[in-house]
This record gives sequence, structure tokens and C-alpha cells, in this order.
Amino acid sequence: MKGRKLLMIPGPIEFDPAVMEAMGAATTSHVAPEFVEVFGQALERMRQVWLAPDGQPFVVAGSGTLAMDMAVANLIEPGDRALVVNTGYFSDRMAAILARYGAEVDHVRAAVGDRPSTEEVEAALGQANYKVMAITHVDTSTAVLADVENWAKLSCQWETLTIVDGVCSVAGEELQQQAWCVDVALTASQKAVGVPPGLALLVAGPRAMETFRRRRRPVANYYADWNSWLPVMEAYEARRTSYFGTPAVNLVAALNVSLGQILAEGLEARFERHRRMSRAVKAAVSALGLGQVPVRDEVAAHTLTAPRYPDGVDSSLLGHVKAAGAILAGGLHPEIKGEYFRIGHMGVTSFGDVLATIGALEQGLMGVGYDFEPGAGLAAAQAFLLD
Ligand SMILES: *Cc1c(COP(=O)(O)O)cnc(C)c1O
Repeated sequence: MKGRKLLMIPGPIEFDPAVMEAMGAATTSHVAPEFVEVFGQALERMRQVWLAPDGQPFVVAGSGTLAMDMAVANLIEPGDRALVVNTGYFSDRMAAILARYGAEVDHVRAAVGDRPSTEEVEAALGQANYKVMAITHVDTSTAVLADVENWAKLSCQWETLTIVDGVCSVAGEELQQQAWCVDVALTASQKAVGVPPGLALLVAGPRAMETFRRRRRPVANYYADWNSWLPVMEAYEARRTSYFGTPAVNLVAALNVSLGQILAEGLEARFERHRRMSRAVKAAVSALGLGQVPVRDEVAAHTLTAPRYPDGVDSSLLGHVKAAGAILAGGLHPEIKGEYFRIGHMGVTSFGDVLATIGALEQGLMGVGYDFEPGAGLAAAQAFLLD
């Protein structure tokens, strides 16, 4: 492992060796009995990880953007009204997808680094007869955390469907799909779910499936149409085979291993471990004198941290941090792109990885000539990691 760097970006992340072993195993036929069992189990486990006992899981080869596309393509018809609770770059992407399928899109926004209040979301929901409200649970461009629980419950009262882009949250950030009245929760394999890139993952609740069944027009996307995928998902879960497009056999096998690990850790324990890693990284960043993009602790995500470069430091810092052993990500939000960077801390990332990353960050800061007390970040992080 000497010379290997820690991949501490908000996806793809570090993956568990058992997951990589499943990726590297001999590929079976997609209709082999062993694979049917693995796929069936993975679908059952998704329902548990999503906390959506009534949900219909979909696993399709593609990235997170395909999962967003699939949710919208199947629920939206031209002329439908949609509300986007906009917290950054990925909310803009969701709005673009909604518009592409003919929705009339309104936004409820906050300043960069902040999120709208529940009162603002409630007022926005009352402005029109919205068919769908879209929330980005963790906007990966700003590290802002949405208040999914309270906003989805409101939208439920208005009979508006809630789509949650959980690409940077599912299996890391607490998300109780059914209890919180979330109609669609979607993600991609390479983030907190802990599987190499290549799977779009989505669970649709009963209200979403009912809305889909009542469509008047055909789904305007051939590949993403639930009419084609639903029989496949139902078949594999019943341990039968069915075909529409060849499943990504090795990725599905890896998904089943990772979901098994997530359930073995326990969701509550996993959410708490993510909160703890997050507190440690954020405490370290503050101790080193760096600010953050989220404007208050309460609105900051637990799956990544978005520190601001200190005065006189720019993105050349990241090269120094990489040389010291940790790969971090640059900024993404167009308005502040050059002002901050991002540290992902999700999935199998250990407390040791967190300390190694903070150590590499300190070495990088030293490398760019920033003035700070060496070890201050490490000590602050350690205080949150020690029980
Ligand atoms: C990464 C990400 C996406 C896009 O996923 P891809 O797999 O890159 O297509 C969408 N939304 C959020 C919140 C993300 O973090």
C-alpha cells in the first residue's frame, strides 16, 4: 500500500476490500441462479438501508445523474408544476432535468452556504399546485444539509411528491424515507453506499408508483422507463429472471456486499459515526483557522466538509496535501469555485483515515507557507474521535 493516497473526495470514496473482491470475481451470466440470488438480496437490502419498507427499489447501470433523470422522467408530464428547494449546483441540475421533461419549475433559494427556512419552504409550497418538490439532501457543491424531515412532511400535507437527491447522503446522512414521507430517494453507488461508480440506485414509495401508473403520456425516456425496469426488479426479487438491459453483474454483486456491511454496522451506528467524523474534521478545520462554506453548524452536512482557503492560499494547496498522502477535491459551486475545497468523509472511511487526512492537510498548509500551530488540527480532531 506504500505510495497509495487516501481518496478523500465526495465520491468516489475509499472502498472496502471485500467490495473490491466482489468486483473482481469472475463474471457470471445475468441469469445464473447465483446472480439471481445476489440481485434479489441487494434489492431487499436497499429497502432496509433506505428505511422504506413499502418502497420499490430500482438498480440500473449509470451514474447518479441517471437516477435523477429516471425519477423525473417517470413522474413528470409536460405542464406539471415543480418546486426546487435550491441549495446549489446539484439543485440546479435537478431543475434542468425537470425543465427538460416539460415541468414549469419554481425555486425557493437561500444565499450560497445557507438553506431556506421551513417557513420559506412552506410558503413556497402554498404558491401553486406543485406535483413535485425536489430537495438535494446534501448539496455536494456547498456541503449544505437540507432539512428533509420537516420539508418532506410539509409537502406530504400538500399532496406534493418529494424527490430527494440523496447522492451524497444515502447510507451516510440520516434519511428515513418512509417515516419522513419521502416519495423517491435516489443515489449512486460511488458515494456513501461504498461501491465503485456505475450504478444508479433509487427507491420509489407507493405514492410515486401510483402517480407513475396514472400517467397519461408515455415516459419520454426509453432507457429510464419504469415500465421496462419494474418487471425486471420484481422478477429478481422473486428469484426469477427477466431481461430489459443487461445488469452490471459485478457492480450488483459488489453492491450486495456493501449493503450487507452497512446493515451489519447498523444504520443508527453508521449515521452516528458519520456525525462524529464530521465533527472531528470541522473542529480541525476551525482549529487551523479556516472558515467553511456552510454558514452555520446546523446547516452543515456530515458526509463532507467544505473549508475556505485562508487568506493568501489558493488551490495549489491541494497538490501539497496530495503529496502528503490525501486526495481532496476543489470547489464546484460556480459563484465561489476558487474560494474553497472539499473533504469527503463517508462510507468505510475510518477515524485513522480522518487523522491521516488532517495530518496531510497540515503538511499541505505548511507547504504553502501558511502560518499556524502544527498539530492544532490533529489535536482538535482527536478530541472528537476519542470517546
Ligand atoms: C455526485 C452527485 C450527483 C451526480 O452523481 P453522478 O454519479 O456524478 O452522476 C448528484 N447529486 C449529488 C448531490 C451528488 O453529490
